[in-house]
Amino acid sequence: MTDESRREDVVTVDRTPPDEVFGLLANDVRVDILRALAETPDDSVSFSDLHDRVAVADSGNFNYHLERLRGSFVREADGYELTLAGEQIVGALLAGTYTADASVDQFELDWDCLLCGGTMTAAYREERAWITCRDCGKGARFPFPPGSLEQFDRAELPAAFARWLRTFVQRATTGFCYVCAGRVDGELARLPGGTEDDPKPSRVTYECRRCDRVTQFSGSTLATYYPEVEAFFFEHDLELLEGHASRAWSKLDEFDSEILSEDPPRLEVRFAFGGERVTAEITPDAEIETVRRCQTDGETGTER
Ligand SMILES: [Zn+2]
Ligand SMILES: [Zn+2]
Repeated sequence: MTDESRREDVVTVDRTPPDEVFGLLANDVRVDILRALAETPDDSVSFSDLHDRVAVADSGNFNYHLERLRGSFVREADGYELTLAGEQIVGALLAGTYTADASVDQFELDWDCLLCGGTMTAAYREERAWITCRDCGKGARFPFPPGSLEQFDRAELPAAFARWLRTFVQRATTGFCYVCAGRVDGELARLPGGTEDDPKPSRVTYECRRCDRVTQFSGSTLATYYPEVEAFFFEHDLELLEGHASRAWSKLDEFDSEILSEDPPRLEVRFAFGGERVTAEITPDAEIETVRRCQTDGETGTER
């Protein structure tokens, strides 16, 4: 490879100052143009079709606003279409990211708290789903798009939250920040053995190199959504997506974790059900390294 061609491999990203870009959106006609283009996401739209879709009497005015959007939110090919940034803006409008103010009062769930046996509840506030015990207050909370709430009945919400949580966990564990899509670095932290105040034995954190946002959840959550461990839950009919993972954990015969070493920290998470156990080892940088499944009845355990 020559120096010349090597240089061509380097990815460069041109950036427009953010205040300039967001300033473009401070106009109803421009927002209407983006929404109109989003009506047919797979097709380019001709100037006249687009003009028809956006109710602006003055053609010159329409043209001016369309031109302002071109390059950042709108691309001109055969006709006009949204850029990725344009799609994301419309997506955020639909998700209610900038506009919705929603809450759902606490309601009871159909499983008990693993820590105290109390009643688990779900609620939505501060743009987060809350899955917490009414008695001890412990549980999970994670971001959920406010505009998506109205798409589900209350009875459907626990499953919707669980499905969203799975994508949230997978975004971090596959290496991307859920806020800015920057790269994240994982770390296994806050090792046990649990105190009365915080019985959670482990925590994995993923810090974004770009926006410094830290995503965190328990080592048990990390292990649960690892493909081979998910398969264990699936094969034992321990439904992971009907509610938060703690619903499936509450049905297990064994749900435990063990510190394999303190420094650097290594943790093994264990789940057992129906005569079978699965274990997953978590490395210091919050990777799953080894997954083993074996029979728990009798002495003849097999590893695979
Ligand atoms: Zn509790
Ligand atoms: Zn980020």
